[in-house]
Amino acid sequence: MKTGIIFDLRFAHHEMGTGHIESPARIRALEKIVWDSLDEKAILVSPRPATEQEISLVHLPSYIDYLKQTPAHGYTAFDPDTIAGPQTFATACLAAGAGLTAAEKILAGEIENAFALVRPPGHHAESARPMGFCFFNNLAITAEFLRQKIGLRKIMIVDWDLHHGNGTQKAFYYTPEVFFISLHQTPLFPGTGAIGEVGEKNGAGFNLNLPLKPGKKDEDYLYIFQKIIQPLADLYQPEFILVSAGFDVLSGDPLGKMELTVEGCGDLTQIILELAKKWAENRLILFLEGGYDLNLLQEGVAEVLKRLKGQLKPKIPQASCSEELCRELAPLIPLLQKYWGFILER
Ligand SMILES: [Zn+2]
Repeated sequence: MKTGIIFDLRFAHHEMGTGHIESPARIRALEKIVWDSLDEKAILVSPRPATEQEISLVHLPSYIDYLKQTPAHGYTAFDPDTIAGPQTFATACLAAGAGLTAAEKILAGEIENAFALVRPPGHHAESARPMGFCFFNNLAITAEFLRQKIGLRKIMIVDWDLHHGNGTQKAFYYTPEVFFISLHQTPLFPGTGAIGEVGEKNGAGFNLNLPLKPGKKDEDYLYIFQKIIQPLADLYQPEFILVSAGFDVLSGDPLGKMELTVEGCGDLTQIILELAKKWAENRLILFLEGGYDLNLLQEGVAEVLKRLKGQLKPKIPQASCSEELCRELAPLIPLLQKYWGFILER
């Protein structure tokens, strides 16, 4: 079985003005990484654009229309960070379609897992508004496609981007059919993602936020993956896993103060791969979100692709909880017990 690398240089067509940090150069920087990764274990997959009907699984038609009608010349600023240029609508449709393409290929048995190397990113985009460099929520559209069109009932999302995935959280806040887990630096944009945001109504307990103070290292993230996400996945038993992979968690990223290494991101990927194998028939799609140092982005994507293709470590050592991390996680313990009967082991 193979890994699908969903990639297209047209993702560089969207641009938000000179000097914007979420720039077309991010895609161009990945071209060589993609080519170097292709072998008997990985194939290049061209994305199809999502239709407006598919995008409307998550977004209001009036918003889709509005973005479609932004002028073909010049720029429309939704906020100081999120600016639609002449090619934004078409590129955002293609980015949303990348996840659908990946899902279709996986369901057809043509590939086993996939990395959608897209821009614009998606996890901040809400039903009726773009924000934080995001226009359509690529991952949420794929999750809704799997739920509404394919009939899956247990989809797990892990969002390890530096920032809280507010758009994804909002899309699934009231349903147990999508379990959203986000790790993010706090305090930071967009300001949401507190521990107490656990979902509502039938969705209560199916939204987990892990806001983390700056300076967290591989060990801290590994502990959370091994001691919280892994056992929760064993309880939930997801049918499909989707990941918002942001490389702005890497040490040295200009927007973040986390201290993950490239190898650490690889280890997180490996843990998720093991969960996908155990519960979801290997079905796993990663979506590129942030990551603003081009060299780190290249290294991070290359490492994650290696793991997806099966170049795994024999064993990832058990991480431990630093005093600081344990203190930050303490308010989570009663919630895990309340919703999952879950005891957090040191
Ligand atoms: Zn981010």
